[in-house]
Amino acid sequence: MSLEWLGFAGTSLVVFAYLPQIAHLIKAKCAAGVSLSAYLVWTSSALLLLVYALTTGDSVFITLQGYQLLALGLIFVLSLKHRDHRCDEHCGAQDGVDTSQLTGTVELARR
Ligand SMILES: [Zn+2]
Repeated sequence: MSLEWLGFAGTSLVVFAYLPQIAHLIKAKCAAGVSLSAYLVWTSSALLLLVYALTTGDSVFITLQGYQLLALGLIFVLSLKHRDHRCDEHCGAQDGVDTSQLTGTVELARR
């Protein structure tokens, strides 16, 4: 009996794992907590592993790495695009705090 279904079940979990981050980047245009350098390395890793997976012909490995490359690359590009923006939730505005000074501080720290 093939255990390929087990691989596709695991791949399905990976698909859902990235969705909250992607949704937050698209809806809130907020990249709070995203490490651009880490996502660059992970995206590069996914590309290399996809090339390797294609040489093996393993459908689970190819599907997983193809999705990883797509999701990680999308997170990296959106985070790069929105790297200077924080949503109200990540600026502390939900606590009723005036975040105008905080945002300025964050911008100064990035220079
Ligand atoms: Zn946010």
